[in-house]
Amino acid sequence: AASAKIIDGKMVAKEIRDEITTEVSRMKDAIGVVPGLAVMLIGERKDSATYVRNKKKACESVGINSFEVRLPEDSAETEVLKFISDFNDDPAVHGILVQLPLPKHMNEQNILNAVSIEKDVDGFHPLNIGRLAMRGREPSFVPCTPKGCIELLHRYGFQIKGKKAVVIGRSNIVGMPAALLLQREDATVTIVHSRTQNPEQIVKEADIVISAVGQPDMVRGTWLKPGAVVIDVGINPVEVRRLPLRLVGDVCYEEARKVVSAITPVPGGVGPMTIAMLLSNTLSSAKRIHNFQ
Ligand code: NDP
Repeated sequence: AASAKIIDGKMVAKEIRDEITTEVSRMKDAIGVVPGLAVMLIGERKDSATYVRNKKKACESVGINSFEVRLPEDSAETEVLKFISDFNDDPAVHGILVQLPLPKHMNEQNILNAVSIEKDVDGFHPLNIGRLAMRGREPSFVPCTPKGCIELLHRYGFQIKGKKAVVIGRSNIVGMPAALLLQREDATVTIVHSRTQNPEQIVKEADIVISAVGQPDMVRGTWLKPGAVVIDVGINPVEVRRLPLRLVGDVCYEEARKVVSAITPVPGGVGPMTIAMLLSNTLSSAKRIHNFQ
């Protein structure tokens, strides 16, 4: 049977990190500025702590400074806002990231609104999302995971313009901005969500599928158009016969790879790209703030 090309996000992310390393040292040599990322973690979630640790390590690996703040679960919202305001004013900080989800008693909207749009490297500020949605406007930053998906399509040379794209999922952090980005790239975009009827019929029309659902192996081989390109954002832990937890995507990989022309693996697809885009956004921010090309 035919077998799909594997879109190697780990390799592309490494290439991008190498490019960033070069740029960070060029900037440091030329104007003495080192890009800085502030990362805030509120609460004790293990997964969030892992993401924060990985982001910090990734910064170190390319020469970006990282500043970490950890606050206890029961911190007051005002305390978080105070740190954000200090980072907004701090010239050593070019990017500010508040790890989500926040503790239940905090208002996510207040906190995301407080981040300066010029340092909003996650791209979650409503003004940046609004600009992403509007023609003729440019957001200062685009959310990292969807940006990583598009970057993979570009680097592998898949045409987006004029293609039928289906995004499965409409979350603020992945599905919705992914759909907006594809539209900006001149794809014809359909969004499938939990209330969509006959999703398999709709997905089957797509030349490009981006799936961000969070349901292991939901998208079966029979849902996919032969020759389609699949970007699987899902990271779903599954337990198989009491073996250690394994991570799988939203798309049934074994079935899909016999049908489609290219697909991202999980892990090793979109995951590494997300962090590479965060570093890229932080570098761009420092360049923009210091007017360095
Ligand atoms: P959310 O839970 O916020 O959103 C899930 C979306 O999927 C919702 O829009 C929901 O629809 C839709 N959905 C749920 N069930 C179905 C279904 N049966 N059929 C169709 N649509 C459905 O998740 P996220 O967007 O935050 O994350 C999605 C996945 O991506 C997760 O597995 C997450 O771990 C992974 N992820 C990976 C990242 C990476 O770096 N690779 C980064 C971020 C997330 P509705 O709106 O109607 O509820």
